[in-house]
Amino acid sequence: MTDRNKDHISSRSEQIPVVADTDVVVVGAGPAGVTAAVSAARNGASVTLLERYHHLGGMASGGMVLVLDDMVNEGNEIVTTGIVSEFVDRLERQDGAVYPPSEDCLTNWEMWQKWSRWGCIDFHKQGMPQPIIHAVAFDPDAWKRVSLDVVRDAGVNLRTHSWFSEALVEDSRVTGVVCQTKLGRQAIRAKMVIDASGDLDVASSAGASFTDGQFIVTTVFRLCDVDTAKAEAFEYQNPEEYKKLDRQARRIIGGAWGMWWLKTPLPGIVWCNCPHMPGYDGLSPEHMVEAEYEGRERMMGLLAFARANLPGFENAKMLGAAEQMGIRQTRLLQGEYVVTKDDVKKRRHFADSVCRGRDYYTPYRALLPKGLDNLIVAGRHYSVESEAQKQSREIPPCMSQGEAAGIAVAKALEANCALRDVDVTAIQKQMRAQGADPGDVPSANALVEEPVDA
Ligand SMILES: Cc1cc2nc3c(=O)[nH]c(=O)nc-3n(C[C@H](O)[C@H](O)[C@H](O)COP(=O)(O)OP(=O)(O)OC[C@H]3O[C@@H](n4cnc5c(N)ncnc54)[C@H](O)[C@@H]3O)c2cc1C
Repeated sequence: MTDRNKDHISSRSEQIPVVADTDVVVVGAGPAGVTAAVSAARNGASVTLLERYHHLGGMASGGMVLVLDDMVNEGNEIVTTGIVSEFVDRLERQDGAVYPPSEDCLTNWEMWQKWSRWGCIDFHKQGMPQPIIHAVAFDPDAWKRVSLDVVRDAGVNLRTHSWFSEALVEDSRVTGVVCQTKLGRQAIRAKMVIDASGDLDVASSAGASFTDGQFIVTTVFRLCDVDTAKAEAFEYQNPEEYKKLDRQARRIIGGAWGMWWLKTPLPGIVWCNCPHMPGYDGLSPEHMVEAEYEGRERMMGLLAFARANLPGFENAKMLGAAEQMGIRQTRLLQGEYVVTKDDVKKRRHFADSVCRGRDYYTPYRALLPKGLDNLIVAGRHYSVESEAQKQSREIPPCMSQGEAAGIAVAKALEANCALRDVDVTAIQKQMRAQGADPGDVPSANALVEEPVDA
């Protein structure tokens, strides 16, 4: 971690204009925030959604993270549905999504060759070929368009170019938030607050407890003019030669998962989820500058190697790096319950589960900070140990958290109660009514240690 508090000045007090007075303010329009805003609005709340950038989607668009993972459990049940499924349908209607039909979700070499370069494999499985599973490759601009469509259709008051800077707190309530804009600081008054900033900006500003997490960061990028059919044919017809070249490529990029390039819905354009760079603090401007320099150097090195050596990449060009640095983990809430690695690994079921991903369940308590009555979090900064977050932070489960959080704030407004006093069974019931899986019914392989109706 960098020392973020070396020297200080005092800031002058000021009159801040109130630009919205709303039932719910959601900070951060990434996958979790958009879903939370839409879910709250569809449940009858007036909602203001704040986003620092011009685009919506967070890591799924600006971060160019282009495969939806953790959507199925080992029993091949799709566990992230509801608004996640709606997104997939809307992306597909815009030719922005590709995924295997259920009859292709098998474990054999034929399906491996057909689907692995789309990223639709169970990468938790070691043996080869890995199973083909329901995962969705998508286009980042289509994600931005779909996010805008759902937000507008739900009647959400969207405010982009608005950088959250401060939570306004009275006793145990957050009464609103302040953001920085080109027009100066602006305030939004709200009865309920959803922190979907990914970095816990709001909850930490409001005094909630958190830990400083850290994981590899990545300057994700895309290459264009790649002959993917030729590249795949070479890989499958010359496996040993391909492996040798691939090892060299991965040494040059200096950090990548098993496959450093994947196909995207746009022909000839491949997604490179690399380089993976350890030791950077995703909150530190100084660190982010260093990561930008390092990432760009490494990606250009890989491009030169691929053009010179890899069949199919002879004419490849740099289409561009993602607009946002790929940050996986920073502050993590220390809330009413902290999900552990053991919980994720052992598939522990919770009676107050409100959403799920792959084979893990998220208890409502893991979205709630201690000591604040009207703030809830959704997304990658939820209340979880660092090692557990690495296994439970994919886009679809973050969206499902958002869907549950949106319902929770609407229920709290209806009952005029603190978020921790909301009837969890009512959230679970509404999740089901919206077509989402709250994880209230444990799958056959879950570890059930507490009565489901406790
Ligand atoms: C390189 C990389 C590869 C990944 N690979 C995959 C993958 O293959 N499949 C998968 O499913 N998941 C993957 N993930 C994980 C996934 O992308 C994230 O965990 C997920 O996007 C988290 O969603 P979120 O909404 O919680 O946060 P984010 O996506 O980070 O969104 C947060 C939003 O809040 C906004 N925001 C932040 N601070 C402020 C502020 N102060 N004021 C206003 N707005 C603010 C941001 O601009 C952003 O729009 C990957 C992540 C990375 C970084």
